[in-house]
Amino acid sequence: MPRKRPGRVRTRNTNRRAPLLLSTMAPQDYNVRPGETKSIACPDCRTWRRIMGDTVLKIREHPVSDEQGAKSTTCPGSDQLVVVNIDVRRWQVKQDRLLRDAMPQDNRRAAQQFYKPLPAAAVPVARIKGEVTLETTRQSYLAHRKGCTRCVGGQHCTDGGILGRRYVRALQEEPARREAREQLERKARRTERERTAPSVRTAQWAKYGGLTVETANNRCTPRLPETRSEFSGPQLPLSPNDEAAHDQRQAELGKQYAARTSA
Ligand SMILES: [Zn+2]
Ligand SMILES: [Zn+2]
Repeated sequence: MPRKRPGRVRTRNTNRRAPLLLSTMAPQDYNVRPGETKSIACPDCRTWRRIMGDTVLKIREHPVSDEQGAKSTTCPGSDQLVVVNIDVRRWQVKQDRLLRDAMPQDNRRAAQQFYKPLPAAAVPVARIKGEVTLETTRQSYLAHRKGCTRCVGGQHCTDGGILGRRYVRALQEEPARREAREQLERKARRTERERTAPSVRTAQWAKYGGLTVETANNRCTPRLPETRSEFSGPQLPLSPNDEAAHDQRQAELGKQYAARTSA
């Protein structure tokens, strides 16, 4: 067995384990769909985590999930190097087919067409922890389908039904979510444009500028004789007015200070 060498500089911030090959993972335990956030079920803690990076991919640092309280330890699966050594297109086609086959009949085409809203299903019991996104619902549904013997074709067991509906709902909400996101971005851009537009500047000038500014500008007071320049005030006196009183005050302050610091 070769000795385990320390990581190279490039991979210094990894967990020092051998890279995790996607080919060794169950296909429903990761998401590498192009255009979507890459994620993976952390092999150590079995929670969904982001895969970070563009060329060098790593599991995002995360705490051990089921730990309670303030002091949480970092999951040893954090910063695990991940290598996409699968045919992404073939993986995606297979996943899509699985999903389509598993869908209840009326939702078969949900992946392409989800504009017609279906009646909202009852809120299912939350059996799965973590954020509900299109991706997590899809992956947990697929994971269940794979392990469940009672979910066959369009048939679902209770859990499978819940997970399926949850996924379909996420799918239906996605266009609305995307639209909301885009609307926010558009609004931000519009606000920024308006803030700096010449017409807005003109309006501001009309409101606060014009005569008000002119009047203020014209109210220049003549310079006082003892002023050294227009940028500084009159000369400050360099010695106290009453030197005896000043010395007494200084002595008192000194005593007070000594008493405070020795206390
Ligand atoms: Zn983990
Ligand atoms: Zn099932």
